[in-house]
Amino acid sequence: MIHTSEIECPHCHSNDLVKNGKSSNGTQKWQCNSCKKHFRLDYRYKAWEAGTKEKIIELTLNSSGVRDIGRVLHISKDTFCAVLKKNAKNQPLFFDK
Ligand SMILES: [Zn+2]
Repeated sequence: MIHTSEIECPHCHSNDLVKNGKSSNGTQKWQCNSCKKHFRLDYRYKAWEAGTKEKIIELTLNSSGVRDIGRVLHISKDTFCAVLKKNAKNQPLFFDK
């Protein structure tokens, strides 16, 4: 059972959330009462917990393999790639190294 106090809106980081049905694959959908945006909470959310993105980037810069990073952070390769892709969008220079 996920309690709303443990999650936050990915848009405005509010904890004022309401359940908003489920997606076709059974993922819980939420609506934020603060910014009124919708988002889904699934296993990928773990990658966005505080500091995880930074850890992924740090491990990547230290030349850790995808498998090592997944083992350390308990995330899937897909999650890892999604984080890197998103990060690459925000920081285009990241992949130029
Ligand atoms: Zn919000």
